[in-house]
Amino acid sequence: MSSKDYYSVLGVSRSASADEIKKAYRKLAMQYHPDRNPGDKAAEAQFKLINEAYEVLGDAKKRQVYDTVGPQGFSEGFDPGGFPGGFSGGFGRGSGSFGDIFSEVMDGFFGGMGGSASGGRSQGEHILRQVDLSFEEAALGKEISIKIARWESCAPCSGNGSKNGKSVTVCSTCRGTGLIRVQQGFFIVQRTCNACGGEGRVISEICPACSGKGRISVDRTITRSIPAGVTTGMRVRISGEGHAGLQGGPAGDLYLDISVRPHPVFVREGDDLVVEKNLTLTQAIFGTTLEIPTLGAGYPLKVDPGTQPGTVRRIRGKGIANPATKGIGDLVVRLGVEIPTRLTREQREILERYAEVSGDAPAAGSSPDGGLFSKVKSIFD
Ligand SMILES: [Zn+2]
Ligand SMILES: [Zn+2]
Repeated sequence: MSSKDYYSVLGVSRSASADEIKKAYRKLAMQYHPDRNPGDKAAEAQFKLINEAYEVLGDAKKRQVYDTVGPQGFSEGFDPGGFPGGFSGGFGRGSGSFGDIFSEVMDGFFGGMGGSASGGRSQGEHILRQVDLSFEEAALGKEISIKIARWESCAPCSGNGSKNGKSVTVCSTCRGTGLIRVQQGFFIVQRTCNACGGEGRVISEICPACSGKGRISVDRTITRSIPAGVTTGMRVRISGEGHAGLQGGPAGDLYLDISVRPHPVFVREGDDLVVEKNLTLTQAIFGTTLEIPTLGAGYPLKVDPGTQPGTVRRIRGKGIANPATKGIGDLVVRLGVEIPTRLTREQREILERYAEVSGDAPAAGSSPDGGLFSKVKSIFD
């Protein structure tokens, strides 16, 4: 991964200005240019990498995406095919390096649109959407419907942009590559072919339905089940539901960035569902059965006599499903004891009597006039 960190490739900090990046790129490009290092494979590879890095960091938009979905954005991975209902895993499939995955995303987000430099057949762009779920929806799974506007292949021309799908010829200027090589002083530079706009082909009669783009914009509603147990920061991939590819290329994917709202009662810790519950003084002393809220029906928890504050009870398998491991966490109940702050006269007398028979020493200053209990009395009675 480190060799693919574009910032270190260009030798600049993550906060470098556009100008600094440009300067660093130029300097390195001159140094490693193949014309200056004939036959040097290492220099050639480095030159390619420098260009790759500049392609991203030299473009404000791409740089922003790189900074956002950069290495940390890919740390959350799922098992391929791990999800029911058409999910085919998220980022981090197999042991694919960050670089491979990232280039896939970059190609998807930025390639293709309006004729990429490579021309011809290319994959459609990916689509990224934010999905907000309640705590329960995330824990139990939820079928969601997302509205998207996407490019789909134009039916009348079968996506090739020519009227009736005919009258397409290979561009004679670039011989179909979409690129031309131009001598520019010391260097030979590759440029997008002007004759075909990098498409590598020329259409003599343009398809009226799509104006020759081969794709038309369509509003779609995509319905899918989000698997139980997703958490904030996870990214779910729905394969092939992004924009249509160009000239028969595969469609991009739809990515869903999951965000889960907090819950007033439950907290999630790993795969455990955590609930805090307070016992009354007498419940803690005599024991009781508590109804503990869970994501389904309440769970009757038997509390032993003499339960201490801070006691933690763990009920196995009543927690949250893990979409990657398929395991289920526990229900964790943290028990507290509520000390009453308001006492009736009768309650106070009973507790004073309790203190007396227990041999508890009266608190300092609890003399009949002006003692602790008198103060409490004056406040509450
Ligand atoms: Zn051309
Ligand atoms: Zn068309």
